[in-house]
Amino acid sequence: MACLFCRIVSGEIPAKVVHETGRTLAFRDINPKTPVHVLVIPRDHHEDVAALAAADPALAAEVLQAAADVAVAEGVAESGYRLLFNTGPDSGQEVFHVHAHVLGGRPLGALTGA
Ligand code: AMP
Repeated sequence: MACLFCRIVSGEIPAKVVHETGRTLAFRDINPKTPVHVLVIPRDHHEDVAALAAADPALAAEVLQAAADVAVAEGVAESGYRLLFNTGPDSGQEVFHVHAHVLGGRPLGALTGA
Protein backbone atom coordinates (compact mmCIF):
# COMPACT_ATOMS: atom_id res chain seq x y z
CA MET A 1 0.00 0.00 0.00
CA ALA A 2 1.20 3.50 -0.81
CA CYS A 3 2.28 5.68 2.08
CA LEU A 4 -0.19 8.05 3.76
CA PHE A 5 1.10 11.20 2.10
CA CYS A 6 1.35 9.52 -1.32
CA ARG A 7 -2.35 8.73 -0.87
CA ILE A 8 -3.03 12.42 -0.13
CA VAL A 9 -1.08 13.35 -3.29
CA SER A 10 -3.19 10.93 -5.34
CA GLY A 11 -6.43 12.28 -3.84
CA GLU A 12 -7.32 8.94 -2.28
CA ILE A 13 -7.28 10.55 1.19
CA PRO A 14 -8.72 14.08 1.51
CA ALA A 15 -6.69 16.96 2.87
CA LYS A 16 -7.19 20.69 3.32
CA VAL A 17 -4.85 21.84 0.57
CA VAL A 18 -3.62 25.43 0.94
CA HIS A 19 -0.93 25.58 -1.76
CA GLU A 20 0.25 23.47 -4.67
CA THR A 21 2.76 23.51 -7.47
CA GLY A 22 3.56 20.98 -10.13
CA ARG A 23 5.89 19.12 -7.80
CA THR A 24 4.76 20.10 -4.29
CA LEU A 25 1.62 20.04 -2.16
CA ALA A 26 0.83 21.86 1.12
CA PHE A 27 -2.06 20.96 3.40
CA ARG A 28 -3.17 21.61 6.98
CA ASP A 29 -1.90 19.24 9.65
CA ILE A 30 -4.79 17.12 10.92
CA ASN A 31 -3.66 17.70 14.53
CA PRO A 32 -2.36 21.28 14.56
CA LYS A 33 0.13 22.20 17.28
CA THR A 34 0.06 25.93 16.51
CA PRO A 35 -2.53 28.31 14.98
CA VAL A 36 -0.74 27.89 11.64
CA HIS A 37 0.41 24.31 11.08
CA VAL A 38 0.82 23.34 7.45
CA LEU A 39 2.75 20.40 5.99
CA VAL A 40 4.65 20.92 2.73
CA ILE A 41 5.63 17.83 0.77
CA PRO A 42 7.09 16.91 -2.59
CA ARG A 43 4.62 14.91 -4.67
CA ASP A 44 7.37 12.36 -5.26
CA HIS A 45 8.05 9.96 -2.44
CA HIS A 46 11.30 10.46 -0.49
CA GLU A 47 11.66 9.08 3.01
CA ASP A 48 13.08 12.15 4.71
CA VAL A 49 14.80 15.46 4.01
CA ALA A 50 18.24 13.88 3.76
CA ALA A 51 17.03 11.42 1.13
CA LEU A 52 15.28 14.22 -0.77
CA ALA A 53 18.34 16.48 -0.73
CA ALA A 54 20.55 13.64 -1.97
CA ALA A 55 18.18 12.43 -4.70
CA ASP A 56 16.75 15.71 -6.01
CA PRO A 57 18.26 18.95 -4.64
CA ALA A 58 16.16 21.07 -7.01
CA LEU A 59 13.01 19.54 -5.57
CA ALA A 60 14.31 20.17 -2.04
CA ALA A 61 14.63 23.83 -3.00
CA GLU A 62 11.09 23.82 -4.39
CA VAL A 63 9.79 22.49 -1.06
CA LEU A 64 11.58 25.33 0.76
CA GLN A 65 10.17 27.91 -1.66
CA ALA A 66 6.68 26.46 -1.27
CA ALA A 67 7.06 26.66 2.52
CA ALA A 68 8.05 30.33 2.23
CA ASP A 69 5.04 30.97 -0.02
CA VAL A 70 2.76 29.22 2.48
CA ALA A 71 4.12 31.45 5.26
CA VAL A 72 3.20 34.53 3.23
CA ALA A 73 -0.24 33.18 2.37
CA GLU A 74 -0.91 32.24 6.01
CA GLY A 75 0.13 35.71 7.20
CA VAL A 76 3.13 34.65 9.30
CA ALA A 77 6.01 35.71 7.06
CA GLU A 78 6.44 38.96 9.01
CA SER A 79 5.59 37.69 12.50
CA GLY A 80 7.85 34.68 12.03
CA TYR A 81 7.52 30.95 11.82
CA ARG A 82 9.46 27.73 12.19
CA LEU A 83 10.24 25.13 9.53
CA LEU A 84 10.74 21.67 10.96
CA PHE A 85 11.76 18.44 9.27
CA ASN A 86 11.60 15.53 11.68
CA THR A 87 14.17 13.02 10.49
CA GLY A 88 14.62 9.53 11.88
CA PRO A 89 13.66 7.77 15.10
CA ASP A 90 14.94 10.22 17.73
CA SER A 91 12.96 13.06 16.09
CA GLY A 92 9.69 11.20 16.48
CA GLN A 93 9.11 11.17 12.72
CA GLU A 94 5.85 9.30 12.15
CA VAL A 95 5.24 9.64 8.42
CA PHE A 96 8.15 8.55 6.23
CA HIS A 97 7.37 10.83 3.30
CA VAL A 98 9.41 13.99 3.77
CA HIS A 99 7.38 16.95 5.01
CA ALA A 100 8.21 20.42 6.25
CA HIS A 101 6.09 21.54 9.17
CA VAL A 102 5.31 25.28 8.82
CA LEU A 103 4.55 26.37 12.38
CA GLY A 104 3.48 29.84 13.42
CA GLY A 105 0.73 32.17 14.50
CA ARG A 106 2.00 32.63 18.06
CA PRO A 107 5.38 32.97 19.78
CA LEU A 108 6.93 29.52 19.46
CA GLY A 109 9.41 29.66 22.33
CA ALA A 110 12.81 28.08 22.41
CA LEU A 111 13.53 24.68 20.98
CA THR A 112 13.96 22.13 23.73
CA GLY A 113 15.13 18.55 23.80
CA ALA A 114 11.81 17.40 25.23
P1 AMP B 1 6.00 13.75 11.80
O1 AMP B 1 5.88 13.35 13.25
O2 AMP B 1 7.02 14.83 11.56
O3 AMP B 1 6.17 12.54 10.90
O4 AMP B 1 4.62 14.46 11.45
C1 AMP B 1 3.55 13.81 10.87
C2 AMP B 1 2.40 14.78 10.94
O5 AMP B 1 1.39 14.34 10.06
C3 AMP B 1 1.75 14.93 12.32
O6 AMP B 1 1.85 16.29 12.75
C4 AMP B 1 0.30 14.49 12.08
O7 AMP B 1 -0.63 15.25 12.83
C5 AMP B 1 0.15 14.72 10.59
N1 AMP B 1 -0.86 13.91 9.93
C6 AMP B 1 -1.07 12.58 10.07
N2 AMP B 1 -2.08 12.17 9.25
C7 AMP B 1 -2.50 13.28 8.58
C8 AMP B 1 -3.52 13.51 7.61
N3 AMP B 1 -4.31 12.52 7.15
N4 AMP B 1 -3.68 14.77 7.16
C9 AMP B 1 -2.92 15.78 7.62
N5 AMP B 1 -1.92 15.62 8.53
C10 AMP B 1 -1.74 14.38 9.02
